Amino acid sequence: MTTPHANRTGIVGAMRQELAAVLERLPDERRQCVGGRDFWAGHWHGHEVVAVLSRLGKVAAATTATALIERFGVNRIIFTGVAGGIGGGVNVGDVVVASSFIQHDMDASPLAPRYEVPLYGRARFDTDPALSAALADAARAALAHLGQTLDAGAVAAFGLHAPRLHRGLIASGDRFVATAMESAALRQALPDVLAVEMEGAAVAQVCHDYGVPFAALRTISDRADDAAHVDFMRFIDQVASRYSAAVLETYFQKL
Ligand code: SAH
Repeated sequence: MTTPHANRTGIVGAMRQELAAVLERLPDERRQCVGGRDFWAGHWHGHEVVAVLSRLGKVAAATTATALIERFGVNRIIFTGVAGGIGGGVNVGDVVVASSFIQHDMDASPLAPRYEVPLYGRARFDTDPALSAALADAARAALAHLGQTLDAGAVAAFGLHAPRLHRGLIASGDRFVATAMESAALRQALPDVLAVEMEGAAVAQVCHDYGVPFAALRTISDRADDAAHVDFMRFIDQVASRYSAAVLETYFQKL
């Protein structure tokens, strides 16, 4: 294992469109391919970062997190991406900073209670409080200055009026949730869940195993229902990736 560096941050995005805005901020990134993935090592405001595209789903995310820790010696991981809003009032354009993760498709009953990860004795994996608080502060600033974070055209095109920051539980599973029926079932089974995506709980579990601080920021791209965002990629390009870049910019500036 690489010796953990005193200050090296892993930044993970699931999709290329997400990572594009981040890579633009790294003046000196060098690409290295490990496990079929490109890792870009560089600096952001003088801090060492390794940015990587995990691809979609829990297995891809777990492999990526493990490589970041084992091969690149990161000592914290930040995931940034999009998610479907599940909680009441968690709307498209809002941001969720996770306080914990659960795998909504984990079910080893009757060996373990529903959602519990067998042999861990727990269903929920918490994010790092200090790292999450720093991301939340940066996200609040990005949302408060929406005119600087996004192009005026994007604000109008996606009808973003006073987007909000939420903090709490995110559910992950290997399924794109895109029916009102499924999101209602999730809401009923896990009443405090704010959003659903496909990677975070896997990274949270790997970080728990290695004792590496983890935080996650998700922009709500859809309401996980039948009206799932028609212009998904345009939303990522014009809204979510801009939020990510702005939030991380503030985060590294203050680090
Ligand atoms: N429609 C896209 C597929 C990617 S969407 C395409 O055509 O390429 C899934 C990605 O966005 C995953 O990385 C997941 O973490 C996140 N996501 C956003 N909304 C989601 C939802 N409603 N359910 C599950 N994952 C969602």
